[in-house]
Amino acid sequence: MHHQPCCLYGCTRRRASRRIRYCAGHMAALNRYGHPLGKPLRSTEVAPYRRQVASLYARFPSHPGLLAGETILSDLLRLAQSDLRDRDFADHALRLSVSGVTPRELLERVGAVFLLARDDPRQLPDDARLDFALARAVLYARPLRRLQTRKGYSVSVRPTATTCRKLGQFLRSRLAMLFHLAGEYFDQQRQRREEQAAAMRTPFVNYKGTAATTS
Ligand SMILES: [Zn+2]
Repeated sequence: MHHQPCCLYGCTRRRASRRIRYCAGHMAALNRYGHPLGKPLRSTEVAPYRRQVASLYARFPSHPGLLAGETILSDLLRLAQSDLRDRDFADHALRLSVSGVTPRELLERVGAVFLLARDDPRQLPDDARLDFALARAVLYARPLRRLQTRKGYSVSVRPTATTCRKLGQFLRSRLAMLFHLAGEYFDQQRQRREEQAAAMRTPFVNYKGTAATTS
């Protein structure tokens, strides 16, 4: 009856069951965030990146990549993606469609996760955690459905780990290039602002630039 300890280094809790390598807490994190040490992203940290993606729409309203991205997410909600048609994903896609979520909002949410991962790789240090965060940006865009158990408890109907993994892999493979280029665009803008700020700090005293002479 005594299970071995959780196989995560430093964790002394017992394994959740004989067939599971982790304790209950680390197993839950693995299923929700793609890694036993995974954590949810903070909405306050994601928000500025979402505003960045929204600003791309304002600046480049007819950019073909943004339009194609919206189509990809629209197809996803309509279950027109052959590799994502299982029952669990279909339930969540229907819940999101009925809630009135738009493909553009989802693209903003997904784009924000890509840009955050690019700026701060320690938050999502591997593809598995990035995939789950991308999937969660879509699946948790609206509240989960709640279900009454036989004992009278109300529980959230969470997406399965398989749904998160498959959806995340799909989003990463289809949208990574778009947001890689968006990240480069924002890097370049940041660099320009820094160069301008540095230029403002150039003293006039002893400044030895080229004199305006005509010879
Ligand atoms: Zn553990």
